[in-house]
Amino acid sequence: MRLEASERGFFGEFGGAYVPEMLYPNVKELQERYVEIMGEPSFQAELEALLHDFAGRPTPLFVAKTLSKMCGCEVLLKREDLLHTGAHKVNNTIGQILLAQRLGRTRIIAETGAGQHGVATATVCALMGMPCVVYMGEVDMQRQALNVARMRLLGAEVRGVSSGSKTLKDATNEAMRDWIANPHDTHYIIGSVVGPHPFPDMVARFQSVISRETKEQCHALGGKKPTHVVACVGGGSNAMGAFFHFVEDESVALVGVEAAGCGLSSGRSAATTALGKPGILHGSRTLFMQSEDGQVEEAHSISAGLDYPGIGPQHAHLHVSGRVEYVSVTDEEALVGAKLLARREGIIPALESAHAVAHLRRMELEPSDRVVVVVSGRGDKDMQTYLESFGEGISDDV
Ligand SMILES: *Cc1c(COP(=O)(O)O)cnc(C)c1O
Repeated sequence: MRLEASERGFFGEFGGAYVPEMLYPNVKELQERYVEIMGEPSFQAELEALLHDFAGRPTPLFVAKTLSKMCGCEVLLKREDLLHTGAHKVNNTIGQILLAQRLGRTRIIAETGAGQHGVATATVCALMGMPCVVYMGEVDMQRQALNVARMRLLGAEVRGVSSGSKTLKDATNEAMRDWIANPHDTHYIIGSVVGPHPFPDMVARFQSVISRETKEQCHALGGKKPTHVVACVGGGSNAMGAFFHFVEDESVALVGVEAAGCGLSSGRSAATTALGKPGILHGSRTLFMQSEDGQVEEAHSISAGLDYPGIGPQHAHLHVSGRVEYVSVTDEEALVGAKLLARREGIIPALESAHAVAHLRRMELEPSDRVVVVVSGRGDKDMQTYLESFGEGISDDV
């Protein structure tokens, strides 16, 4: 199948731009100009140079020998954890700040939950000398104090949000309000393939470098294309980037791994494809977890980056159409996945990425298979959780 946004930003029945009238001119300008700007040779050249010299691309496609032996087939790890700032998010923030400059914007805003997207945004703003305001729920600011300090050290202003549950969705509302109040000078960098059109498509294009490189690297590694690509899904940006150039090739199985949290029926989960219903969330029609009367429900995952009640519209469409298989992994299973990668391959992954690794153990694979697993980020930020979860048993084998 082809995955292309329609004129109005729909992927099948999902997507679109459901925004307040006050925001319409901003969104409309972006819709009209993003493809053209991204296609300019000078834009491409600047983007490529920064991805290479500042972010550290291309990231390796690593042949994981021990995991390969364990799975009885070839397992390759796409090492987004080796990027500057420790995760794939910088691919998108570099792209969007270049776009913002070409639109004549002089101020950047963002929202953040765990702080990873906030740090990636503060980083590119420091690089470009642009003022940066990051909205963050007060509960999240306490939970992620180190990332708050990082953003401040990089020169960003972190504005605590004390409304609602004081978490990501409230921070998103505040960022929207800011954008409405400052439509002329400000660009809002959304951190995943969510939000009104054109954000899902634009962010997917910026993250598509992951699958572009994977294709080339598979070619260099004996020429065989992957039989499976596996990636974790929060909002869905690393997965969309990893799937992007493979969606049309039905011989490549695509697997999105969501966070089941404490379990699908526990009431504490973030597995949107299993538990969500269609509706409008953050400016687009997509799937999200909601109460009987359509109110957004709180998500839960041990990993802050997957702790989101929805998924982007492309994923909703890929799920409903059956092109991508979505599965879920519990907190417990993800912890085992993290330990497995640490012990067997010498890579401590982010808890988000550990979900993808954990699913690998359950897959039914043939000796001729070549599985690409995206390691979306590194585990430094999760050391406190690893310590608390494993306790004395941290050095025990899996
Ligand atoms: C934010 C984050 C995610 C989840 O975001 P997506 O948009 O679904 O990719 C996954 N892994 C890491 C390391 C993250 O920081």
